[in-house]
Amino acid sequence: MSTIYDGIILGAGHNGMILQAYLGKIGMKVLAIERKAVTGGGLSTLEDPRHPGFLHNTHAFFQRAITAMPWYADLELDRHGARYIEPELNVALLTRDGGLLGWWTDIDRTAQSFEQFSRKDAETLRRWHHEFVPIVRDILAPEAKAPPLPPDERRRLLERSSAGRRLLEVSALSPLEFVQQEFEHPTVRAGLLFFNGLREVDLRVRGFGHHIAALLASPAKAQMSRGGTAALAHALEAAVRESGGEFRTSTELKRIVVEGGRAVGVETAEGAFIRAKHLVVSSLNPHQTFLDLLDDALVPTDIRDRVKGFQYNLLAPLFALHLNLSEPPRYTASASYPALNQAFMVIMGLDHSDQFGDIVRHHENGTIPGTVMWGACPTLFDPSQAPTGQHTGFMWEKLPYRLKGKDWSDVREEHGRAMLALWRKHAPNLTDAVLDSFTRTPTDTERSLPNMREGDLLVGAFTNGQIGFHRPFPGAGSYRTHIPSLYLCGSSSHPGGNITGLPGYNAAQVILADVGIITDWFPPLISDHLAAIS
Ligand SMILES: Cc1cc2nc3c(=O)[nH]c(=O)nc-3n(C[C@H](O)[C@H](O)[C@H](O)COP(=O)(O)OP(=O)(O)OC[C@H]3O[C@@H](n4cnc5c(N)ncnc54)[C@H](O)[C@@H]3O)c2cc1C
Repeated sequence: MSTIYDGIILGAGHNGMILQAYLGKIGMKVLAIERKAVTGGGLSTLEDPRHPGFLHNTHAFFQRAITAMPWYADLELDRHGARYIEPELNVALLTRDGGLLGWWTDIDRTAQSFEQFSRKDAETLRRWHHEFVPIVRDILAPEAKAPPLPPDERRRLLERSSAGRRLLEVSALSPLEFVQQEFEHPTVRAGLLFFNGLREVDLRVRGFGHHIAALLASPAKAQMSRGGTAALAHALEAAVRESGGEFRTSTELKRIVVEGGRAVGVETAEGAFIRAKHLVVSSLNPHQTFLDLLDDALVPTDIRDRVKGFQYNLLAPLFALHLNLSEPPRYTASASYPALNQAFMVIMGLDHSDQFGDIVRHHENGTIPGTVMWGACPTLFDPSQAPTGQHTGFMWEKLPYRLKGKDWSDVREEHGRAMLALWRKHAPNLTDAVLDSFTRTPTDTERSLPNMREGDLLVGAFTNGQIGFHRPFPGAGSYRTHIPSLYLCGSSSHPGGNITGLPGYNAAQVILADVGIITDWFPPLISDHLAAIS
């Protein structure tokens, strides 16, 4: 007889696996169904088939503060083999004229770097850092780790404290207005807007003015997973298996089965019916969950319209250039800034905040802007990712998913060469050090992970109508759907994409509450927490 599971999760990316492990901890037997041959989704490390030993992280390489995430400790991922590295010169922006703007794990060193561009900007940085540390600690970080509140209730609670009122005031600006109002130097402005862009928030949209202040104050710095990003997937998979969870990989889904108004299982493309006693949870995007996998009759017209209106990020798609190297990039600017030899994320091609307008226009037109790129040499910090003495490197660039009049396959090699040419300008040794290379385009992303529709690696735009309580859309923002026992847990839900694990963690809080299980794993209700801030 086939197993009847307590729950089934659609997609075994990190959000799905985090939820699966929590459900396993309360004794539920949960199966994850995954279309790829391996688990992990965006936690992907591939070995170069032409050159064994060279490992390439094709998706999520820079992971913010993973070791400080509550699920990292709860699921004992250290014990399951995860290891993280957090380089001190966390980000280095190299300017065309050989300058370096650096973000260090230590705010004082970051301020010293800002000072080389503008003393006033360095003071402004310190001021915002000081003011926003408690706002991030007491409001923004707890909000990300909790099911979101309805906007009116959130506002009412925030208005009760001075920190909350300040947050609302700063949020009313757009990121661009914030930067233009507060900072003066074009390179400093460009660097700050770049970080805002990594979160894909449209820098012109009001309601997100607090983002950059929060980034300045956040203790969450970029980390990398030893052994490659897939090592986190392996640790999560081990935690799931230890809790009794199972995986069915290389399995395509046909539909979510609903009986008596409840989600009771799934049918696979091969025609197998797998039953779930209590719940089905989708980590996929709203188009897949509501339009592809549910029969039309099960989705009321108003919900269907909201799903159809769900927007993906125009600016999120990435083009990647990956290199096998005989030695690490040696940047000319390291003569003046020796620490650059140990910089983690390196940004090139960005000098002025005006470039952002140009990048947006190119995305809207389906054309290729002047290259602004960022990446790393992972083997500087983790030699296990290449054969002894050799290295890997990669650069990413935001480029349109759809090219006007062209196909990505026609231009990928040429564009990879253009990126390498820019990299060589800053690191001339790359002329001889490249042993092999390959590129990945925005369409490759969607082909590999179809939940990243249109190459949107954050699985849904951050716009005012699609955040917090309304992510992915009004009526499904609490990880619950209109069908009892059908839940959501992926990046289309609050707080959104990237490797945070928080959509999965928050969905676990909602589901445990719905099945009536009380644990001390999760923080107090966010409404109580906000109400207690004086
Ligand atoms: C090029 C690139 C670079 C990135 N860089 C970073 C970075 O540096 N830092 C960072 O934090 N994030 C980065 N990201 C984003 C990050 O990878 C995603 O936001 C994250 O993986 C989303 O996690 P998830 O668990 O919600 O979804 P996913 O990781 O996408 O997992 C979803 C899973 O569902 C599976 N699936 C999809 N459709 C089906 C189906 N029909 N049936 C069954 N299974 C299905 C997928 O195969 C996948 O395993 C990057 C992404 C890309 C593409």
